[in-house]
Amino acid sequence: MKRNLSTIQRWLKADGQHIAQQLVTGVCIDSRQVQAGDLFIPFRGEQVNGHKFVEGAIEQGAVAALWLKDEPNPPAHLPLLFVEDAELALQQIARSYRQKLNCKIIGVTGSNGKTSTKDLLAGVLSPYFKVKKTEGNFNNELGLPLTLLSVEEETEVAILEMGMSGFGEISFLSTLAAPHFAVITNIGEAHMQDLGSREGIAKAKFEIIDGLKKDGLLLYDGDEPLLQNLIASQPAVRSMSFGYERADLTAEQIESTDKGSSFAVRGKLQGQFTIPVYGAHQVKNTLAAILIADELGLTDEQIKNALEQTELTDMRMQPVEGINGSLLINDAYNAAPTSMRAAFRFIKDTSVRRDKWLVLGDMLELGEEEQDYHEGLANDLNELDLQGIALFGRRMKWLADQLTDFPGEIMWTANDVELITDALRPKLTEQTVVLFKGSRGMELERIIQALAEET
Ligand code: ATP
Ligand code: MG
Repeated sequence: MKRNLSTIQRWLKADGQHIAQQLVTGVCIDSRQVQAGDLFIPFRGEQVNGHKFVEGAIEQGAVAALWLKDEPNPPAHLPLLFVEDAELALQQIARSYRQKLNCKIIGVTGSNGKTSTKDLLAGVLSPYFKVKKTEGNFNNELGLPLTLLSVEEETEVAILEMGMSGFGEISFLSTLAAPHFAVITNIGEAHMQDLGSREGIAKAKFEIIDGLKKDGLLLYDGDEPLLQNLIASQPAVRSMSFGYERADLTAEQIESTDKGSSFAVRGKLQGQFTIPVYGAHQVKNTLAAILIADELGLTDEQIKNALEQTELTDMRMQPVEGINGSLLINDAYNAAPTSMRAAFRFIKDTSVRRDKWLVLGDMLELGEEEQDYHEGLANDLNELDLQGIALFGRRMKWLADQLTDFPGEIMWTANDVELITDALRPKLTEQTVVLFKGSRGMELERIIQALAEET
């Protein structure tokens, strides 16, 4: 951003000291990351009081700082703006800045696939537009305003991930960002604890229409009946669906190749596409990216070419070279039943290697029904035609106990990494693919690292 401190003062309607036309080029809430030109916002947490770092931040090049009104002893010689609440101030600055931005804004929510879809969108749009996207997982009430504030005058498209853990949060983020395009990737079971049911989750994601511009476009998972019901109740919202069946844009003949996936697109656009990413679910995320690229005026040829070069953030269906020529697929960023089944579908359909293994870690944060969710995967697994399955974590014992009809090898351990790596090592050949999936907290990458070819 490029704004005078006095302009920001006006946005905040705040009292200040030593405020003039100093140019603010960024906003920072972490004193260790201050850059010259930043406005530093101190947060007062239980452990640390950010006001302690105001002086240092300004020494490092910050042009000014906010200061909470009830915090004593503001240094009299520093340029400060006095506010009631640091978080609200950050959001207000972002809101005012947003109103001046001319770029197209895309908001992405959903239970799974937000970061993937964001990356796919950036991949398809970046060769043709100046794109800004959420870094990492900066998708909450602090991350989203900070991302908005990092949008530059020249930015043509900003892609914002919107995460949530309860009702009202997506509505808030969407209203702040006022997107031209809103994407709902899918509805899963994450945050069931807080939202009560899949219906609740769908409703919470659907709040993304609250901030959608009047002439904006909602893109949603057409395979999800809960979303179809919600959209039917909102005839004024322009929308398009993507999915495997009966959507405005569908993907058919999804096949995995040595380098990723190929598929035929049918509907508003037609044609054969490839992406360097595994998994039908990632193909589905790609459909959302294709629809938006098309709306932004790119030709089918341009979209096709850009998608071939796309890269995803690590740990999302990421191919890793395994020992003895084997192929490891790291999908261990997180896990819940929906994304587990998406991974199963990949391993079932793929012909990239003949011998297939799964390494599954516990699914965390599923609430009271966690045992049912783990046990419920057993039937799916029986049908996958696997060589074997390695289960890791105490919750996976529930699943192990249900696998009485499973035709392949089964191993389970509560937390012994070596037991699994020692057992898997001799199985790995040029014919083997192993897919890893579990919740972040299970740290399956420890197993992956032990089985990866050293690079
Ligand atoms: P978070 O809520 O942690 O930010 P996210 O929504 O950003 O997650 P990703 O990081 O893109 O999601 O992917 C998380 C996991 O879900 C990965 O294992 C990925 O392969 C899987 N996944 C991605 N898209 C889908 C989809 N459309 N349906 C089911 N699973 C998906
Ligand atoms: Mg994410």
